[in-house]
Amino acid sequence: MQGGVIKFMIGIFGGSFDPIHNGHLRAALETYERLHLERIYFLPCYQHAFSKALTATAKQRLEMVKLAITEQPCFDVDKREIEQAETSYTIKTLKQIAQSFPQKKLALIIGIDTFLELPKWNEWEQLLDYASIVVLHRPGYEITTNSCITTYLLKHQCQNKNIFINQKYNGILLLNIPMLEISSTYIREQIAVGKSPCYLIPTAVNTYIKKKKIYH
Ligand code: ATP
Repeated sequence: MQGGVIKFMIGIFGGSFDPIHNGHLRAALETYERLHLERIYFLPCYQHAFSKALTATAKQRLEMVKLAITEQPCFDVDKREIEQAETSYTIKTLKQIAQSFPQKKLALIIGIDTFLELPKWNEWEQLLDYASIVVLHRPGYEITTNSCITTYLLKHQCQNKNIFINQKYNGILLLNIPMLEISSTYIREQIAVGKSPCYLIPTAVNTYIKKKKIYH
């Protein structure tokens, strides 16, 4: 308990984290505080089910996540997708996590860019059977064009944060938080041309990237 609020919802923040950056970390902390989450698990994927070739190895991406979260007691890492070493499907992972926490509510935290891509995911319409979805606003993205996702949102959206936290069934919450306009792509590009990613990523992650010569 903190400030009289009972915490029973666990956040799951999945991504390739190639590399993890301050945009991810700040967004996770804002979500943790605003939704009174018990904890947030960063869930690095092993390999994307579609598109996106990854640059750093799975082990390196996991290591960077670990280094990035060490100072934040409310953050943790879920290594299961990396350890399973096969294409990652969020629905499969969520089923496993839900079994591990039968008394808890789960909140899958995703950026709006990822939310717009949801219909490409395996069994995407079943995600809400296992977790609520928190969609984080990201500069440059709007929910307008994709009718499939608009219908899905209209059906499941919860407009009120407090109701979202306390309701028994799973829903979707659009969370407007101040977003840092940082992407892993931008960081990889900067490093590749010899520029510094300083202040975009934690110092420990920067040191690791230099030591392992990733993205150069
Ligand atoms: P890339 O540039 O390689 O596509 P990325 O910066 O989008 O990477 P991912 O690891 O693919 O990072 O993202 C994981 C999750 O974090 C996604 O749901 C994505 O929408 C979200 N996300 C990425 N960048 C930010 C940011 N700056 N603020 C908030 N959420 C973010």
